[in-house]
Amino acid sequence: MELMEKIVSLCKRRGFIFQGSEIYGGLANTWDYGPYGVELKNNLKRAWWKACVYDRGDCFGMDSSILMHPRVWEASGHVDNFFDLKSDCKSCKKRFKTEDLKDKYRCPECAGELTESRPFNLMFKTHQGPVEEAANTIHLRPETAQGMFVNFLNILDSKHPKLPFGMAQIGKSFRNEITPGNFTFRTREFEQMEIEYFVRPEDAERAHAEWVENRFNWYLALGMKAENLRKRQHGKDELAHYAHACMDIEYNFPFGWSELEGIANRSDYDLKQHAQYSSKDLQYFDDAAKERFYPYIIEPSGGVDRAVLAFLIDAYHEEKVKDETRVVLKLDKELVPIKAAILPLLRNRPEIVELAKNIAQGLKKSIVTVYDDTGSIGKLYRRQDEVGTLYCITIDVQTLEDKQVTVRDRDTMLQERISIDKLKEYLLNKLK
Ligand code: ATP
Repeated sequence: MELMEKIVSLCKRRGFIFQGSEIYGGLANTWDYGPYGVELKNNLKRAWWKACVYDRGDCFGMDSSILMHPRVWEASGHVDNFFDLKSDCKSCKKRFKTEDLKDKYRCPECAGELTESRPFNLMFKTHQGPVEEAANTIHLRPETAQGMFVNFLNILDSKHPKLPFGMAQIGKSFRNEITPGNFTFRTREFEQMEIEYFVRPEDAERAHAEWVENRFNWYLALGMKAENLRKRQHGKDELAHYAHACMDIEYNFPFGWSELEGIANRSDYDLKQHAQYSSKDLQYFDDAAKERFYPYIIEPSGGVDRAVLAFLIDAYHEEKVKDETRVVLKLDKELVPIKAAILPLLRNRPEIVELAKNIAQGLKKSIVTVYDDTGSIGKLYRRQDEVGTLYCITIDVQTLEDKQVTVRDRDTMLQERISIDKLKEYLLNKLK
């Protein structure tokens, strides 16, 4: 089986990610995060928030709305510029992104004739209120960034920050992609984690380089393998109309090197545009130098779903143990959904089961712990390995006598006997 198929299959089998609306035959390219998927995703977002908001102190958190004033998308350039070129097949009716086609005239699937390529705006349209008319048309946001630019003044007025400072936001974005695919890599509904970092224009180049390093190292610090990560500078012809520079952080996905996150120097384009369209003064006043100006913006913009997918792929590990293949998700301890599993060795012995449940209950308040007695010990270990659980703790007959449990380490598979009253402290130390 190909690696990507193995990941998709493990995600479904173990409750990470399911096909959206599956019992109705599925809605193409929509995915639902299950019990372990949502834990992993939340841990990832928490790690990002910690690194970008709490640990720095110069970035302010935001949670702006998905629906925004229609003028926002005129000011941002999305109404005029957020297009992909598409070509339709006249025979099989399939739609293609023109830039992906080798032959612009022949369908790559059925060799039918293709229509001329036409621009296709990627923003999802809907109507606000009960009347469906042009005046009520609004869009689902295609990026979280604009929600921060339009709140720049609110941050200045409420927090009085000095440059450089940033705004940070995690939230859903929507793009009517022509060719979604590769599991959760490209979907029409996805989550972004974005920072808008405001700097003096002369500091922009340096700040851009610093953010590239900072964001690259964040993936490494969470255990991503260095050989699967690289930086790629955008060529002049690739740059968005507002950007002075852009560096992508790419991951070596099974389908090739692809973007995980982009870090752009957006110049002073956004604030100038919104100042013009809203007629509000969005300049920053530098008290010491007594000057007003538009700050430049450095934007590290990553995808939550893409990062989750990359971490899953990176952590997937197979090894031979005797005659069996052991599948382990070697996720970093900060990301892994479950830290400890309590497994009674004999599930038909009530005193063992009761003790095991009590131990699990005692750990739960401080450590994400599951209790499982629904299979043989071999099966229980396999299950926990496949979701990456760091420590499996077994309770056996011996435990009833010596009040000790066996703790098995996911990565080394070494087992240690630890007394029940020291267990929580032992695990908390390991998890530090
Ligand atoms: P791509 O070239 O892959 O379409 P992009 O350059 O348009 O991506 P950006 O606008 O820079 O993407 O968005 C920032 C981040 O948001 C991307 O690096 C990616 O992680 C995520 N992202 C963008 N589009 C999607 C999508 N359709 N599905 C999942 N994640 C996405």
